[in-house]
Amino acid sequence: MNDRPIRILTIDDEENIRSSFRLFLEDFDYEVIEAKNGREGLQLFESEKPDLVLCDLRMPEIDGLEVLSKIRETSPDTPIIVASGTGVIGDAIEAVRRGAWNYLLKPIQDLSTLQHAIEQALERARLIKENRAYQVRLEEEVIARTEDLQRTMDDLKNTHNQVKLSEERYRSIYENLQDVYFEILLDGEIREISPSITQISDYTCEELIGASVWEFYPRRDDREHFIEELKIHGITSDYELHLRDKNGKIVPCSINARLLPAQNDRPAIICGTLRDISERKLAEAHIERLAYYDALTDLPNRRLLIDRLERDLARARRHKHYGAMLFLDLDRFKNINDSLGHHVGDALLEEVARRLTNDLRLEDTVSRLGGDEFIMLLSDMGEEPTNAASQTQIKAEQIQKQLSLPYKVLGHDLHITPSIGVAIFPSDDDPDENGNDILRHADTAMYRAKDDGRDAIRFFLPSMQAAADQRLNIEKDLRYALERNEMELYFQPQVDPTGKIVGAETLLRWHHPDKGFISPAEFIPVAEATGLILPIGLWVLEMSCRQIKTWTDKGLSIGHLAVNVSPRQFRQPGFIHQVYQVIAQTEADPQQLGLELTEGMVIDNIADTIEKMQALKRMGIELSIDDFGTGYSSLAYLKRLPLDIIKIDQSFVRDIQTDESDAAIVETIIVMAHHLNLNVIAEGVETDFEFDFLNQRDCLIYQGYYFSRPVPEPEFTRMLQSAQQLPLETG
Ligand code: C2E
Ligand code: CA
Ligand code: CA
Repeated sequence: MNDRPIRILTIDDEENIRSSFRLFLEDFDYEVIEAKNGREGLQLFESEKPDLVLCDLRMPEIDGLEVLSKIRETSPDTPIIVASGTGVIGDAIEAVRRGAWNYLLKPIQDLSTLQHAIEQALERARLIKENRAYQVRLEEEVIARTEDLQRTMDDLKNTHNQVKLSEERYRSIYENLQDVYFEILLDGEIREISPSITQISDYTCEELIGASVWEFYPRRDDREHFIEELKIHGITSDYELHLRDKNGKIVPCSINARLLPAQNDRPAIICGTLRDISERKLAEAHIERLAYYDALTDLPNRRLLIDRLERDLARARRHKHYGAMLFLDLDRFKNINDSLGHHVGDALLEEVARRLTNDLRLEDTVSRLGGDEFIMLLSDMGEEPTNAASQTQIKAEQIQKQLSLPYKVLGHDLHITPSIGVAIFPSDDDPDENGNDILRHADTAMYRAKDDGRDAIRFFLPSMQAAADQRLNIEKDLRYALERNEMELYFQPQVDPTGKIVGAETLLRWHHPDKGFISPAEFIPVAEATGLILPIGLWVLEMSCRQIKTWTDKGLSIGHLAVNVSPRQFRQPGFIHQVYQVIAQTEADPQQLGLELTEGMVIDNIADTIEKMQALKRMGIELSIDDFGTGYSSLAYLKRLPLDIIKIDQSFVRDIQTDESDAAIVETIIVMAHHLNLNVIAEGVETDFEFDFLNQRDCLIYQGYYFSRPVPEPEFTRMLQSAQQLPLETG
């Protein structure tokens, strides 16, 4: 690998934009080359071979789209990010269609989005390159091996010729060969097989000759692959496959074979030798287990743990999420060992191992370090550290509970508790942290748990501990919030430019008996993390539908009542059916129901998402994207979704007056939405200025304190009744 700095070519006709990019990018140690127009850009691309291109769209001479096409033609793996001004949405879509890796709106008011886009593109380019290199290496290896084989087979051929020289010698070699010699036709018919096959398969030669070899070679895909190999290379060596012997037992074998094309009146045949490698396989497996697994519990040992930890750590850094390590030590295990003997202690450890591995996720690891110390490695506990801490706390509690259940071991009734230390990784302030550091942190935290009287869970970082405690309190109370009737729905009107109510959004309120009102911004994430969002979300949906029905019965039309759907809710397998049932049970008019989804959740697993969204649309439900503009909005994706509405995030509306680029973004979103035939709702409208600005740009629906705060049901119903009209506040 060479380590020259990453070279970025910026093509832009505006000198000040180029230099602002340069100043910013050089801070990240990128080498920046600049071109002031498309022609120069293409020349520099040829001569300098940059790792990434950042290109404007509208330029004199050769425009950005053409540059894009030319570069894609000659160098399809080089990432190109297009940056362009507003009002050229058509161009942006065209750029994405022609293969731009990403599209950024100029002016880029927050250059960190640029940095993020560049990093993302480079990472993807790196993966593509790695993949290619891997393929090349594979091919080289195949060639080298084929040559090797050719030599082996030449030798075999010589032997074969010699064998032919003397029928006598041939017979004796043939009959005493340890490996099995065979000849089969391409359709699998066995023409010839040497007697040693009986030792491997229990079949006699007579039983086999004339039969089809495929009967003994059960795996169809495997044997197709085998024939394919032979057809391509003419030979295979040490090809491993599984045969079935006369008793139905599977025998691992290795084959050296060669395809002899048809000659004169002899059909094409496959000939070669076959060897039973059962023993070799057993030995290999045994060696692997000794090296990587704990002999008593069969769990991964420290070495394999550190391996997986390093892998998880790298992955967590790459994907910007957090993992957790739980360091478990059994309290007073030594007493059991000393008083009841090692064999009881060992049996107890085995049972602990079993409980720890019960319903373990595939990507997680349980390891035994030795003695009574176990490690549990949990990957991907979320993208936000305090959230990861609360998730881990939940998981650790489950384990604590599991391990504390009574044990019956070799006739003894035992009880034991664990002390658990937790380290969340990667830690934000130590970029050099490695696997051993994490292990040490978790160990330290475990000792803190012991110091605090054992049978406890402690986090290494105080900030994580605080987050876990805080979340835990909310979570504890949240569990009972529904049944204790502490939840209530508020409704916030959505109005047209004249102030007429055309819809509303359901917003959840929690009146905590001691703590008073708790904001959904605080408890929804906890509900999401713990899964409590499922019952809560269902309740909100049910109550909203019931409310729609009540209003309909009173002759009031709400237009649409929009209900927030959280990611976990949307992703649960039965979600569509659940919505269907709620509508059926409440007899609400589905045409009056809306669901608000977020960008993040629809971009994840796009195919499945589109299917779900289409099912909802078929029921007549209106779909909107909430908080639009805050996520990684991609034009390409948006076009593919069966959406009705985009809700412009409050943060943009808030800054319309003070931030020109936010104003530009809002403008672009409105233009783009109209272009895609979508409606726009502006959220968080608070002032005259904001309303006027949006109204002038043809935004048709508004939601915000300017018109009304979210209000309880009776108040909202009164609003609906009073001519369904909200007075525009003035001043
Ligand atoms: P959201 O979906 O973006 O909801 C809009 C939030 O902005 C609401 O806060 C609303 O009260 C507030 N808001 C509306 N107009 C204005 C305004 O003019 N100025 C200001 N400063 N704020 C305004 P709320 O009710 O605190 O809800 C916060 C978030 O909690 C919601 O954001 C939503 O993500 C979540 N949430 C609320 N209820 C539910 C629910 O039933 N289910 C789910 N999954 N999430 C919910
Ligand atoms: Ca919402
Ligand atoms: Ca929103």
